[in-house]
Amino acid sequence: MATNWGSLLQDKQQLEELARQAVDRALAEGVLLRTSQEPTSSEVVSYAPFTLFPSLVPSALLEQAYAVQMDFNLLVDAVSQNAAFLEQTLSSTIKQDDFTARLFDIHKQVLKEGIAQFSPQTVFLGLNRSDYMFQRSADGSPALKQIEINTISASFGGLASRTPAVHRHVLSVLSKTKEAGKILSNNPSKGLALGIAKAWELYGSPNALVLLIAQEKERNIFDQRAIENELLARNIHVIRRTFEDISEKGSLDQDRRLFVDGQEIAVVYFRDGYMPRQYSLQNWEARLLLERSHAAKCPDIATQLAGTKKVQQELSRPGMLEMLLPGQPEAVARLRATFAGLYSLDVGEEGDQAIAEALAAPSRFVLKPQREGGGNNLYGEEMVQALKQLKDSEERASYILMEKIEPEPFENCLLRPGSPARVVQCISELGIFGVYVRQEKTLVMNKHVGHLLRTKAIEHADGGVAAGVAVLDNPYPV
Ligand code: ADP
Ligand code: MG
Repeated sequence: MATNWGSLLQDKQQLEELARQAVDRALAEGVLLRTSQEPTSSEVVSYAPFTLFPSLVPSALLEQAYAVQMDFNLLVDAVSQNAAFLEQTLSSTIKQDDFTARLFDIHKQVLKEGIAQFSPQTVFLGLNRSDYMFQRSADGSPALKQIEINTISASFGGLASRTPAVHRHVLSVLSKTKEAGKILSNNPSKGLALGIAKAWELYGSPNALVLLIAQEKERNIFDQRAIENELLARNIHVIRRTFEDISEKGSLDQDRRLFVDGQEIAVVYFRDGYMPRQYSLQNWEARLLLERSHAAKCPDIATQLAGTKKVQQELSRPGMLEMLLPGQPEAVARLRATFAGLYSLDVGEEGDQAIAEALAAPSRFVLKPQREGGGNNLYGEEMVQALKQLKDSEERASYILMEKIEPEPFENCLLRPGSPARVVQCISELGIFGVYVRQEKTLVMNKHVGHLLRTKAIEHADGGVAAGVAVLDNPYPV
């Protein structure tokens, strides 16, 4: 594909000078990560990897992704409130996947208790990010196809707020003023913070705090700080604690208000708790305590379950969207237009057929377990081996199969600490951040709050920025 930057990418000397300028600007703007050597220290930091140039994205697809975000917010919220749908959808998965089963156990426990005690949990906060790739179709025009929706710990809203300045800088150095002006402003961290602030306000206790559940080793702390800073500017105080801290210092009073170190918590914002290895027995207990509390949880356990790959696959069945969003045919049509092929691997004829198709044409499919955080999916020969092994086992119900999206590759230059600037064939993934707040049955906020473009070399099938594969980017609308 032709890019605006085609000839610029050939001039090695100029690239190196531009890269030096871009890196310095990224550092100055706060596009930062802690290092893998010292993941608990802010004494030594470096820049988060990024592209030297913004990547071309058709404006129609950007607009489409923004236009469908409120629908996705509604959909996730509807799924999270539909206990019967979650139970039925996840019934085969939880028999095979221990992590999903544990989450589901907490969900059941909280439901039971809530009904028994006239649950005082009234405020629900969703901060999500729906991710897409641009499928090239037969006529050459790209189509927006959803990869997944992240309902827990959706990250890089903070750093994505800082990268437009870097790309504008690069284009300005080249005296491309008009092009620099086309880089979209973006401020997801502010929008995410406004959602948290709304939930905090509705909780209605002026001295209560926001609790950010943090990992012990967090390289991406500056991304989180961007949200914390926005909250502090609104006089909302944030404390960062690990699950371990909560199991030692967290408690509920008789009304199930949550206290940590004696301070009342209005909102719990999870930036941990989406992978099995993040849970010791003690951490599961802490998660249960948080779920049982009256604080607004972002996400609550049902919303985390609504973000599983299995739910995504079941949502693509005919009639499901109509059932979950009754009387909203336009929203249903917008949502469905973004769905790629998704196939259940539950034991039975339908699953057998999906496996047969994937074995016959492996390059057209991706095999996905119920995991988050990148690097878990299987492709190509690895997928074939796994499918052969799973075929005759009940374990296959813990996976889903997805059509593989094949975007048109393009050239860009990737910048990473410790590596020389590298011009490579790339593909991008666009994420849109969504925020909603619900009080009882009333939706009081539903919006999109910005975007994230991540770009990676085509040789990597899987993985995001945190996994060390993709780099931060900005869409250059064309
Ligand atoms: P995770 O929850 O681990 O982020 P994803 O579903 O987002 O799982 O998959 C991780 C990465 O794998 C994506 O960022 C994307 O690069 C790649 N990927 C996932 N699904 C597909 C697909 N259907 N087609 C092509 N690439 C995919
Ligand atoms: Mg992902």
